[in-house]
Amino acid sequence: MRHFDYQNGEMFAEDVPLSRIAAEVGTPVYVYSTATFTRHYNVFADSFADTKSLIAYSVKANSNIAVLATLAQLGAGADVVSVGELKRALMAGIPADRIVFSGVGKTRAEMRAALEVGIRVFNVESLAELRVLNEVAADTGKTAPVAFRVNPDVTAGGHAKISTGKKENKFGIAWSQAESAYAEAAALPGIEIVGVDVHIGSQISDLAPFEAAIVKVAGLIKKLRAAGHTISSFDIGGGLGIPYGNNAAVPPPPSEYAALVKRLTADLNVEMIFEPGRMIAGNSGVLLSEVLYVKRGEDRDFLIIDAAMNDLLRPALYDAYHEIEAVQQPDLDKMETYDVVGPICESGDTFTKGREMPALESGDLIVLHSAGAYGAAQASQYNTRPLVPEVLVNGSDYSVIRARPTVEDILKTESLPNWLTKDENVTDI
Ligand SMILES: *Cc1c(COP(=O)(O)O)cnc(C)c1O
Repeated sequence: MRHFDYQNGEMFAEDVPLSRIAAEVGTPVYVYSTATFTRHYNVFADSFADTKSLIAYSVKANSNIAVLATLAQLGAGADVVSVGELKRALMAGIPADRIVFSGVGKTRAEMRAALEVGIRVFNVESLAELRVLNEVAADTGKTAPVAFRVNPDVTAGGHAKISTGKKENKFGIAWSQAESAYAEAAALPGIEIVGVDVHIGSQISDLAPFEAAIVKVAGLIKKLRAAGHTISSFDIGGGLGIPYGNNAAVPPPPSEYAALVKRLTADLNVEMIFEPGRMIAGNSGVLLSEVLYVKRGEDRDFLIIDAAMNDLLRPALYDAYHEIEAVQQPDLDKMETYDVVGPICESGDTFTKGREMPALESGDLIVLHSAGAYGAAQASQYNTRPLVPEVLVNGSDYSVIRARPTVEDILKTESLPNWLTKDENVTDI
């Protein structure tokens, strides 16, 4: 069931015509569907209804507070990677004891903030970090609950830039050092060992790498317990892929993933923690954009749209495919081949090359599908393009959940040093 689909010849988000959002909010704009977030979360949660588990939504995939609040109401926890994400999760109503803190470079200030609110667990990625966490815990008079993120050295992920579980990646404790890391942690007064964590990559489209990682970690858990450690949680991270509408391998549904996880962890007696991001948010959003110009080149035609790589970085960063459709249901007899590009002064500002699609004209609205994860969250203001706004649809209602800043808003954060303001040729901003 698609919540971005044609009704009476034009595309709707649930029961709201996208043309209405374009007219009222302007383009480019991200449009999210509450019904899709809900369905994806529930499909995942229902597959683990019979398993002691915590679903800690990966905030970095889509960190808008309204999105987090939508998921919080469904019972989601959060996986955060910065104090900013921690604040968002708390503001959205996610209880601290359902928040896990990941990331290779946590600062002392971030550790302190997380200790003070009492998060569930720190996923620690190095001994250097462990020692600092122990010091910060001692300073604050708390004990830090810790799982080591271990690096199982398995290949996974839809692109080299989203593969994280190989030994050459910066993530996690090297497999050969895992047991000694636990031994060191056990001796530190500010640290309480609670579990093991792994996250092998993103946009994973088959179960084999999950199986390889779980089997390895299950073996490690048994060894750690034999060495006297208490391991009560097993966090297997996120990474389950989603269909992007191209010919790439279609990832397994959450039910198959769940069956695998349950089969391999049944005898471990641990609470499972999951950190899905893309699986929940990816197909819950589209980027709505307007065609500015059709430029007929010598050997190719360019569709120049008002969205650009600063709004949606995935094609430039990961060579990602996004399905593109017209908002007005097109005439499928009139096909053209376009390079779809944005206005930014970079050749990388290209959403797709040589894509066959129905003919479009200046002023037509289009959507780039599957833009709900790693879309708005990665947007920047490059070329002094104001941060793209976000809209959340709920049935026949919608709300702007991040407003488009004005150029003045952007310039307000900048200032001239005093040696330049003395120069009468410089205008005081
Ligand atoms: C990015 C990330 C996730 C989420 O990955 P998805 O592929 O979006 O599910 C989960 N855990 C960690 C540690 C991450 O860095």
